[in-house]
Amino acid sequence: MNSTVQPIHTNSLNISDGLAPYASREEQSLGRQFPEPAPNTRTEFQRDRDRIVHSSAFRRLEYKTQVFVNHEGDMFRTRLTHSIEVAQISRSIARALKLNEALTETIALAHDLGHTPFGHAGQDILNQCMKNYGGFEHNLQSLRIVDELEEKYADFNGLNLSFESREGILKHCSLTNAKKLGEIGKRFINKQQPGLEAQVTNIGDEIAYNNHDVDDGLRAGLITIDQLCEVKIFSRQHSIVMTTYPKLPEKRAIHEIIRRIINVQVTDLLSTTNKLLKKANPTSRNDVLMHPGPLVGYSNEMQTMNLELKKFLRKNLYRHRRVDDMSDKAKNIIRTLFSALINDPKLLPLERQASVHKMEELDGDMGRARGIADYIAGMTDRFAISEHERIFNTSEST
Ligand code: MG
Repeated sequence: MNSTVQPIHTNSLNISDGLAPYASREEQSLGRQFPEPAPNTRTEFQRDRDRIVHSSAFRRLEYKTQVFVNHEGDMFRTRLTHSIEVAQISRSIARALKLNEALTETIALAHDLGHTPFGHAGQDILNQCMKNYGGFEHNLQSLRIVDELEEKYADFNGLNLSFESREGILKHCSLTNAKKLGEIGKRFINKQQPGLEAQVTNIGDEIAYNNHDVDDGLRAGLITIDQLCEVKIFSRQHSIVMTTYPKLPEKRAIHEIIRRIINVQVTDLLSTTNKLLKKANPTSRNDVLMHPGPLVGYSNEMQTMNLELKKFLRKNLYRHRRVDDMSDKAKNIIRTLFSALINDPKLLPLERQASVHKMEELDGDMGRARGIADYIAGMTDRFAISEHERIFNTSEST
């Protein structure tokens, strides 16, 4: 991956005024990989966000599993609605902290672009399939999509996003992979922090999924309100809502409880983060990057309550028999697709055969495997099922 960056040219729409000194500012951006004229109707980080919204990987999130397979019901979150919720929560936090809202939104909308079909089950099995070929990491895949895989622009592959957007998208990365990434991988080697916009989005992601998984889990009937009342953060809001509105129908009560949980989490996050910022007193984005730890965080009490909720969800929802059954079927689909395609790339659609062949010419077996992994990771749930049916002539469903 090319690590050369080109400075971006700010225009009169630049809205850095009013930002905190530790926010990311376009005029200090490390720039884009390929030089481009400044946009004339929006700012540079807004342009990044718009490129994500118009990408095909973003549209495919609509049919990718968050926890529940997309066709289990129209009311459940998908990766797309999850990403929109993450953007909403993260933008609110960023605005309150006087951080760069457009950059935060870009990172939030892009943070799950590299996810495989079938949620974490899909990612785990694809990583296993790729174990002799450099593995598969969904964060790295998100970066690969915006840097290389989107084919939309005449002058370059990928979306040519600014350094700060790319840095935020690459939330985690193994050291082995970081060493291959040039400038963007350096922070993992030097153990530096990402910008505050990326730190906010990281927690915005957590707030969104913990709460919407409670909502979806209740809707699916996999967990109950009684069970959730064993979890402090839920039971506190449950008792406030039921005392204030004793006759509230259950559906409304659930929404009322969840919106209050989000509110107390965000409020705690803002007050703790403001304290951390005051203590560390960063005067620039660079101070944030060099700080020994993250500067966005919860109070100890909120951290403990969130951990309890996460443990509850892991035990009762993510490892529920119904979710496990779905995961086993999904893993089987991906495992068998991968092995069929790597053994016989002629099973791929023609256009894809050509690109995998090119990668194989450049990088041998590693290239071929990466091409197949790109193809599978880009699939929606239903496309993976239909490709599996096409290749194996079955009518298996998840
Ligand atoms: Mg996410």
